[in-house]
Amino acid sequence: MLAMTVSGLTVFYAFRFAMYMAFGPTHETFQTFVGSVPTTLALIVALVIVTFTMTDLSAVESTHQLRMRATRDSLTGLLNRGEFKARATARLASSGARHAIVFADLDHFKAINDTHGHAAGDAALATFASACQQTLTGDEIVGRMGGEEFALLLPTSEPEEARARVERVSEAYARLAKAASIPSTTVSYGIAIVAETDDLAQALRRADAAMYRAKRAGRDQAVVDGTH
Ligand code: GH3
Ligand code: MG
Ligand code: MG
Repeated sequence: MLAMTVSGLTVFYAFRFAMYMAFGPTHETFQTFVGSVPTTLALIVALVIVTFTMTDLSAVESTHQLRMRATRDSLTGLLNRGEFKARATARLASSGARHAIVFADLDHFKAINDTHGHAAGDAALATFASACQQTLTGDEIVGRMGGEEFALLLPTSEPEEARARVERVSEAYARLAKAASIPSTTVSYGIAIVAETDDLAQALRRADAAMYRAKRAGRDQAVVDGTH
């Protein structure tokens, strides 16, 4: 709309120039079509269009920013807890089981804050989020559940495939952190294969419990719920 208005004005002024050259500024034809009255009108119309378009653009931009703020975690850019749950619930409703829920918790994360400061802790969290985004293939849903805890919904019901995927995340995390000289930790994962009878809350609870078993078993590992 903005471009069309600018083009319209350009054409108008080109036409006005041509009329000026052909008839001169005092000629009746010039005055009727491109004299001061039509020119003022054209400028007013252009101004109104530009004002409305700019207001419209800034409304679209504000809506976009509000939506981002409501659905994304500001530190990592991942989905926030609420949006993760909403999207994961919708996914499970549409494609049933055939999914795994992963609960990831960074190991001894508090030590990073204590040793290197809160900013380094923030950088470590953002790096873990990047590792998730880089290694997962697009069908997954990843969110930050809070603090140093993340959840993933993977489109597989194979424990070994889920395990392989979280290993890729951990490898990428270590690699990215090393490359950027950001202190990193190991990660404990709990994996729950979503059953037909599960809702998201149940699957998350099982994944969380499996994650705690990974912690108790020495951290830096993935435990699949239902296995020993
Ligand atoms: P564990 O291996 O048992 O999980 O130990 P942990 O230290 O990772 O767990 P704990 O729950 O004791 O500590 C989590 C820490 O994460 C405490 C909190 O200050 C820190 N934390 C939570 N959110 C943020 C954040 O946004 N930025 C930073 N820098 N630290 C955070
Ligand atoms: Mg924790
Ligand atoms: Mg932790």
